Amino acid sequence: MVSVAFINPLSVEGRQVVREMGNLDSFREENGDIINVVIHTRSQDISDEESIPHNYLDLAVKRLEWYIKKRNDPNFDYNKYSFLFNYKITRFDVISFYLLCQAVGVKFGPNSRESRAMVESQGKLMESRLSEFSRIDREELIKKILDSLLNDERVKWTFFEDILSSHKLKLEDLVMDHGNIILNKEDFIESFSSKIQHRDPDKIYNMMIGDKVKELIMNRMIMQKTEDYIYKVHQKSRREIEPNPILLELAEKVSNVLSESFTSYGYKVGVNGEVKAAPLNSNAFPPCVKLVLEGMKSGGRNDAIILFFTPFVSYARLYPDVFRKNVTVKVSDVDPNLSVVQNEILPLVYGAAEQCTPPLFEDQPQEKVNINAKLGFGMHTTVDLKHEGESIWYTPMSCEKVKLHLPSLCKPDKTCKRIGNPLSYYIRKLWESGETNGDHEGNEE
Ligand code: SF4
Repeated sequence: MVSVAFINPLSVEGRQVVREMGNLDSFREENGDIINVVIHTRSQDISDEESIPHNYLDLAVKRLEWYIKKRNDPNFDYNKYSFLFNYKITRFDVISFYLLCQAVGVKFGPNSRESRAMVESQGKLMESRLSEFSRIDREELIKKILDSLLNDERVKWTFFEDILSSHKLKLEDLVMDHGNIILNKEDFIESFSSKIQHRDPDKIYNMMIGDKVKELIMNRMIMQKTEDYIYKVHQKSRREIEPNPILLELAEKVSNVLSESFTSYGYKVGVNGEVKAAPLNSNAFPPCVKLVLEGMKSGGRNDAIILFFTPFVSYARLYPDVFRKNVTVKVSDVDPNLSVVQNEILPLVYGAAEQCTPPLFEDQPQEKVNINAKLGFGMHTTVDLKHEGESIWYTPMSCEKVKLHLPSLCKPDKTCKRIGNPLSYYIRKLWESGETNGDHEGNEE
């Protein structure tokens, strides 16, 4: 049987591996055992030396790179990462997991994009690894892991407070009876069979809970524990004088993986993950956006600022290629420190809100929360990385939608004839003026 540490590196078995691990300084030395597992993995591409990790640091970088490339790279090649799905990699993989968490915790802390990428990558890796097992093995592994994560057979929903409040899990994903989470079939039948009429309770159980809810809970709990571990490392590192240089070296590599990935797929991100200055050019704005900037004097004020203008300026400034790339990103993927959001985008949106008659926040200050929500930071009064993902980053409205919902804004000029979205108008105008050089056709919303 595969070790549970292959799925959950934070398990007792995983922690045992870490206790036995050697000196950190040896982790950048060539490791024949790692290479051996990798090159003997079925379907692993060994023709490209770059695909083969030679030591623990390489392995840690590959572990994260798999997730980033799988998510963003249209030419992602699974065979370059097959070794991650070979259970014989477990011992080395567990150590690389701890190295990554420590490097991220020491250098970036728990509310960073690096931390988020690490936690999400762990979630995806567990999911992908489990999907490669037979149903029986998968069930057995999930049961074993869940039993160790949930100390009691009957678990109150409050047990999941952290996961629920961080939105890793939603209440509607769970089936409850008097506040207890129902996970096994016997409990389900005991609680609900009398209420189920003319249906087979077994089938209803499989439909509502079955393996999928158990796997989801297990996955989210381990993601939360990964985040907690990064937080603990971060807190501890603040009390220490000098972090281990190996961890700093790995942290640098992690940052490069994220930044290189964004650069390769068309984002304007510098080597340190900082967004290069690409100020908005108001001369290239379409007529509808110019009208909003002049101030909304009639109906549609709130929608014009919140639903139309905020998505337009944020994408125009941070990710103008959204429709062509067709890759979903979060604001922090392209503005890691949120400095552009804080210093450019929000002031522009607030300025447009101020121009309205009456000024938007004068009678409805609570609408600032809605603006943050449209940028992907949930319903909160400030934009904060820890809330990112609670809502989605709205893409700019198409011309069709503008004409339908905000008809007073649409005063087309001759460029409008050739585009379907105000963002495409902006890009086209920049291109015509020589400020950009791409073909920006895409699936416009
Ligand atoms: S056609 Fe599109 S870009 Fe032009 S004014 Fe109307 S909504 Fe704006």
